[in-house]
Amino acid sequence: MSAARTFELQSASGVRVGLVELGASISRVQAPDREGALADVVLGFADVEGYATNPFYLGCVVGRVANRIAGASFELDGMSYRLAANNGPNHLHGGPGGFGSRRWRGEPASSADGRAVRFRYTSVDGEEGYPGTLEAAVTYTLSDEGALRIDYRATTDAPTLVNLTNHSYFNLAGAGSGTILEHELELRASRYTAADAALIPTGEIAPVAGTPLDFTRPTAIGARIGELAGEVGPGGYDHNFVLDSGGGELALAARVRDPGSGRALEVLTTEPGVQLYSSNFLDGSISGRGGAFRKHGALCLETQHFPDSVHQPGFPPVVLRPGETFRSSTVYHFTTG
Ligand code: BGC
Repeated sequence: MSAARTFELQSASGVRVGLVELGASISRVQAPDREGALADVVLGFADVEGYATNPFYLGCVVGRVANRIAGASFELDGMSYRLAANNGPNHLHGGPGGFGSRRWRGEPASSADGRAVRFRYTSVDGEEGYPGTLEAAVTYTLSDEGALRIDYRATTDAPTLVNLTNHSYFNLAGAGSGTILEHELELRASRYTAADAALIPTGEIAPVAGTPLDFTRPTAIGARIGELAGEVGPGGYDHNFVLDSGGGELALAARVRDPGSGRALEVLTTEPGVQLYSSNFLDGSISGRGGAFRKHGALCLETQHFPDSVHQPGFPPVVLRPGETFRSSTVYHFTTG
């Protein structure tokens, strides 16, 4: 197979985005600070080959179903399906051979909104246990203002499940420069999906008020993170927030700001949820640009349908049927403020 292709998009505002066919990944984002100095604000590998084995999902597209499916099995239209269990007894991020580990086909695309690259991938019937052949496309478009828009599309030839996201790890002070604990975060979410110790939702949609999950006003990520110690894995945020927008229309979901550099990130999405993940499981065992990837060295804002939706009748559904088109859009706008 030929070497994986890489692409670069540049905005008039000075943002530069690197993309690679492996996992249709965002491999690099350079963004200016308030003085115009560029820093690499996502974790990434030094070489393209790093994306071939990417156990922490750096920058890649996650699918066919992002997040967890309890018991690595589900029923659809009376049929039972078994998936790979790659997170204890549960299925995580589409399984070991999920979309983030696949070679997509990329090509430059034109768009009225900016320069674009479109990646396509055909996920065959039965891949990772999912029914139906899924034709997936992900288009990255960078506007002159530094807004990176991600448009996901998919169609299927048999009923299946789809929930796609991007798993970029952001550090607005610069990858490898320290933790994100001083970054200020605002989330347009007054509720979250309560979960058990294995991060499987209980079905309860609970208010964030009065908990360390209340980011309805800008708050440092480190301000209350200690109150979560022991609650989820090695400690830190790893929660699905229920966006007040309800999904459907593109709406502001999150704002992050690094007070030191003035770099800021706005996240808009059509999705009903976002997983805030403070890279709790990064343990220094893997390195890339900026050195070893460390706990709390970055944060992910994974726009998505809620975890384990297939088992939760109260959650928005993730079923895609023949004749329908899956559509989802998320914008990561790199700015200063
Ligand atoms: C999940 C974490 C998981 C991580 C893997 C996140 O989306 O919420 O629990 O460990 O992905 O990199």
